[in-house]
Amino acid sequence: MKIRNRLSNFYTLVAGSLLMIISIVIFFASSSYRENAFYQRLSERVQVTEQLFLEKESLSAEVYQSIRDKFLHFLPEEIEYVGTVEQFEKVAQDSLVDVLPSDFVAEVQESGFAEFHKGTKQGAGRLYTHNNRRYAVVVIASDQYGLAYINRLRNLLVVGVGIALLLIWVTSRAVARQALKPIAKKVREAQMIGASNLHLRLEVHNSKDELGQLAIAFNDLLDRLEKAFNWQKNFVRNASHELRNPLAAILGHSELVLRKTRSKEDYVEALQNIHREASRLNHLVNNILQLMPVKDSDMLPSQERLRLDELLLEAQETLRLTRPNNQVRVDWDNMPEDPNSMEIEGNANLLQSALVNLLDNACKFSNNQPVEVAFQQVHNAIELSIRDHGIGIPPEEREKVFQPLHRAGNARGYKGSGLGLALAQRIVELHHGAIELDPRDEEGTRVNLKFPVAAQQLMEV
Ligand code: ATP
Ligand code: MG
Repeated sequence: MKIRNRLSNFYTLVAGSLLMIISIVIFFASSSYRENAFYQRLSERVQVTEQLFLEKESLSAEVYQSIRDKFLHFLPEEIEYVGTVEQFEKVAQDSLVDVLPSDFVAEVQESGFAEFHKGTKQGAGRLYTHNNRRYAVVVIASDQYGLAYINRLRNLLVVGVGIALLLIWVTSRAVARQALKPIAKKVREAQMIGASNLHLRLEVHNSKDELGQLAIAFNDLLDRLEKAFNWQKNFVRNASHELRNPLAAILGHSELVLRKTRSKEDYVEALQNIHREASRLNHLVNNILQLMPVKDSDMLPSQERLRLDELLLEAQETLRLTRPNNQVRVDWDNMPEDPNSMEIEGNANLLQSALVNLLDNACKFSNNQPVEVAFQQVHNAIELSIRDHGIGIPPEEREKVFQPLHRAGNARGYKGSGLGLALAQRIVELHHGAIELDPRDEEGTRVNLKFPVAAQQLMEV
């Protein structure tokens, strides 16, 4: 069921229930008021009848009858009884047996006064003593006008509530449709957005209302999707480009050498070329495979408490194997005073691999010129900066170099496949850290890393 229908049904139900309760209260209050008012009239009649009966002896029969006709017989379907209690008992059993309730006579005798309501008839009876004899006066009548009024009121309420419900349902549907119109518009806008126009966004008319916030959240989601989508697109494009080059070289060398019979030296040279390209391919594929599991998961394989300065020393050792002439200098003099603030939680292998990649870049793109590494404690985090004096990264490439397989234009002369930085970024993010290129650098490159200090350390501080 659409929200629009649900809303209008809900409001109709709530308003209908309220109207129904109010109508029932009005009906029963009016009904009870009518009944009481008629009892009041009946008991007044009983008194008048009683008075008249007492005066009867002093009046002539004609006068008595004319007063009776004039004042008493105007209640609809009125039955009036005045007589001794014994006679009344007899009359009650004979002619009034269908009209009076069974316990009425006994109640009148017991309490001296009683009222009853049976079907459309109401009655009142009183006991009084005159000349040492007990008499009963009973007046029974039907409140035809009052009952007709109550019936009319009931019909009016039923029809009124019915019409009101219909009106509420129709108007609430219209209001709901009007209120939900902007949502329907947003749905249409969202339906227009697809892979080919992922740059489109929903319009935000008022950022403070719920719809505006929904549109903002949806646009944020689109931002992230677009980023991920572009990441994949660039990755596939760069990967196919990078894989095609060594493959083309392997095919070229092999086709050339197979064209005719060649000397042993030629075969050796061709095989060496093929081997070199195959090694490049192998390195590339290995790097891609290394990136994938880290890229896809949000969990670290295993975690332990590590010291960042120790990790750096180990990374330097590893770097020395591939770049024995590196000039990485760590600023040990300006270390944070508390050695415990160097402790972070993480996976040693992954963190080392990230550090080696960054140190390797710094050495490679500066042709082994000095590289400065420094630590700094900032609140609950430890920062590490790696600074080189190499070719630098052009400002327009700063965002892109974190994409896998992307290499800046000025890096063409240097070996590499463009995966190290992407891998390092992913590893740092998995450790809830941050990596950024310091934009202040005019000469060379400065990479800043930031990791949260391990939890227990923080509690001790
Ligand atoms: P790989 O690390 O896969 O061997 P790579 O070093 O070229 O290859 P990344 O480490 O991912 O790739 O770096 C991506 C690009 O960022 C580099 O190609 C280069 O253009 C730029 N870059 C990274 N670090 C530096 C640096 N210290 N100085 C200058 N450019 C850099
Ligand atoms: Mg690299």
